[in-house]
Amino acid sequence: MVRSTIQSLKKNLPSSWVLKSLKSRYYSSMSISSEVPKERVECVVIGAGVVGLSVARELALRGREVLVLDSASTFGTATSSRNSEVIHAGIYYPPNSLKAIFCVRGRELLYKYCSQRQIPHKQIGKLIVATASSEIQKLHNIMDCGIKNGVEGLVMMEGSEAMKIEPELRCVKALLSPVSGIVDTHSLMLSLVGEAENCGTTFSYNTTVIGGHVEENHLCLHISQTKHLEASNGKFPLQPEMVLIPKLVVNSAGLSSPALAKRFDGIQSAVIPSAHYARGCYFTLSNTRVCPFKHLIYPIPEDGGLGVHVTLDLNGQVKFGPNVEWIDGVDDVSSFLNKFDYSVCTSHMKIFYPEIKKYYPNLEDGSLEPGYAGIRPKLSGPKQFPVDFVIQGEDIHGITGLVNLFGIESPGLTASMAIAEHIATKFFKC
Ligand SMILES: Cc1cc2nc3c(=O)[nH]c(=O)nc-3n(C[C@H](O)[C@H](O)[C@H](O)COP(=O)(O)OP(=O)(O)OC[C@H]3O[C@@H](n4cnc5c(N)ncnc54)[C@H](O)[C@@H]3O)c2cc1C
Repeated sequence: MVRSTIQSLKKNLPSSWVLKSLKSRYYSSMSISSEVPKERVECVVIGAGVVGLSVARELALRGREVLVLDSASTFGTATSSRNSEVIHAGIYYPPNSLKAIFCVRGRELLYKYCSQRQIPHKQIGKLIVATASSEIQKLHNIMDCGIKNGVEGLVMMEGSEAMKIEPELRCVKALLSPVSGIVDTHSLMLSLVGEAENCGTTFSYNTTVIGGHVEENHLCLHISQTKHLEASNGKFPLQPEMVLIPKLVVNSAGLSSPALAKRFDGIQSAVIPSAHYARGCYFTLSNTRVCPFKHLIYPIPEDGGLGVHVTLDLNGQVKFGPNVEWIDGVDDVSSFLNKFDYSVCTSHMKIFYPEIKKYYPNLEDGSLEPGYAGIRPKLSGPKQFPVDFVIQGEDIHGITGLVNLFGIESPGLTASMAIAEHIATKFFKC
């Protein structure tokens, strides 16, 4: 029975696993030792970021037995804790794209959820600004797109009107989005974890999915303790320490989703998109007693990102960022262990000051301090047309019960609850 299996997993994960000897770098499904324990579970969610947590909660609320696996020691240590924490309105994305649909629906769900659970958030609104007359047409195009996406309340303002409500701002025209806001992502994730746990979800941290194989058209997951992967120092274990046989698997491993899917023996590699990575760094404003802005301030979007914008967190700290730096990935095992380069290089300040001064001329030299960096899990590279979220089910890859989430970059935080709703409705009806 599934429930008794989950109970036994609760007892067994991960401390009682026996590490098999690592004789060679490679293994295949055929060579998995018969001593490796195999367990049936109903649903496995790989990744405890905001998307995986939302999916786990949604499935658990619908009465499913859910096991969440994460290679890190707790939830939300990757992209979900390295972003702007903005609740996006849904303005920028091509009409009818998954990004547009899930952003608008996700925003609605997120505001409701945060209000009901007293999760710190604020609908502070956002101004997208044109700082030169050459940008005005782009601003109109953005507004048209937002209207097509069903974003409420958009208002085009003259520069003088915008500067009246934001005296530190300089612009020639601005688009006001009153429904944009900010959220405390950690509190949100904590609430999702708590609710999922209350509905019986089991969380197994320090637990890495290292691959899988297909048996009777279902995916069997190969599991290892993270500490053993780390200790293997780049040499991949010969054997998984456990094999899980779920009815539904949601691959929500963020930056490593494509690399992980490539390790599912039996999935056609042609359906797995190439991953591209774009680091975004933030700088904070030092010695600020009074926050210079009341709204989020965004320039016109740039290639790969939304431009170096102003975000405020709920403690009043002012952040500028993120820029776009295309970076090379890491090998698959290192990506499972989140060994990406999150360093913030102070030399970027040279670029940040002039970018910010275009709309905030009073920014004082020497007032920026390095903050943090996040990495966008992209499916398109530099100068390529942006790619939509990819949510792959059996119709695409042919494997029953496997849902792959690829390219869940911004607005993934805003969209998380809508993605969860979609997965629970479309892929797990019974
Ligand atoms: C710079 C930046 C700014 C952004 N700003 C915003 C914003 O303001 N608003 C917004 O809506 N969105 C924003 N986003 C997007 C948003 O942060 C992401 O879409 C969202 O956090 C993705 O969540 P996730 O759960 O898919 O991935 P993650 O948070 O990356 O979680 C994936 C999890 O999978 C685990 N994992 C990986 N491999 C394995 C494995 N093999 N086995 C087990 N576990 C594994 C990881 O440890 C991790 O916990 C931003 C993104 C970036 C990079």
